[in-house]
Amino acid sequence: MSASRAYDLHTHTVFSDGTTTPERNAELAAVASVRGLALTDHDTTDGWERQRAACEERGLDFVPGVELSTERERWSVHVLGYWVDGRHPDLVAECDRLRNERAHRAGRILQRLAELGVAVGLDRVLGHAGGAPIGRPHIAAAMIDIGAVPDLETAFDRYLADGGPAWVPKHALDPVEGLRLIRAAGGVGVLAHPGLEDRYNRVTVELVDELVAVGLAGIEADHAAHSEHIAQRWREIARQRELIVTGSSDFHGDNKDVTIGAQTTPHQAVEALRERAATAPAG
Ligand code: AMP
Ligand code: ZN
Ligand code: FE
Ligand code: FE
Repeated sequence: MSASRAYDLHTHTVFSDGTTTPERNAELAAVASVRGLALTDHDTTDGWERQRAACEERGLDFVPGVELSTERERWSVHVLGYWVDGRHPDLVAECDRLRNERAHRAGRILQRLAELGVAVGLDRVLGHAGGAPIGRPHIAAAMIDIGAVPDLETAFDRYLADGGPAWVPKHALDPVEGLRLIRAAGGVGVLAHPGLEDRYNRVTVELVDELVAVGLAGIEADHAAHSEHIAQRWREIARQRELIVTGSSDFHGDNKDVTIGAQTTPHQAVEALRERAATAPAG
């Protein structure tokens, strides 16, 4: 497939945990000669307007998206929603809830840390988050700043890891509920990087079937975190269920070693997704 007619359907900016602006991403997309670009920041649509304008300026087709954080039995599952109504009250409420609970949770983690003798200021953490929803890596960075720990791994091993002394759990929807929300907001759902298996991420085929039952449209089989073998496995899982296969960079700027257009989705697949979104249930 020729990258020149394809789309990059999964990218991040400073509106979540990427390091680049929407304008810079449009520039990189133009350099990569992709036809279209989806912005899929974590749990927010705040970057859409700027990304849409920047894409228009460069003759790129802009695809509005969001990468919803969900969890199943403590495993993190990311569901991509395309062409959702960014003003849908339930979607806005969930994004607000995720953001607010993260802010609240950060305060509680800092409290625990203080009790453990590590005094980290909230300002320092906010400096690392830079307006994005606060995550434990931002807190770890602040801990490194003040010399409380030498590196991120130590911050997690000693304090922040799941079940650790300063750990505070956070709210998340079940993936099935997350997909329902995307559909209710008029969007189409794609399962992000299903083959990414680390300490936090795991997707079972049983979960895929549950998601198919509530309208899953596609699977992101082509992703930098997947080996060719894994990608092949997920393409096959998609094929058996007549799901649309997507590919994307999951660009995060300097936070990940991958560039826009590194993996792409053929125009035809994007059109198939667009059609599914157009026939999404109202509600
Ligand atoms: P949060 O969203 O605040 O729950 O933080 C989750 C992020 O923290 C993950 O995406 C990882 O990047 C990072 N993380 C979680 N656990 C660890 C760990 N044990 N060691 C290093 N990084 C971790
Ligand atoms: Zn991210
Ligand atoms: Fe993700
Ligand atoms: Fe992502």
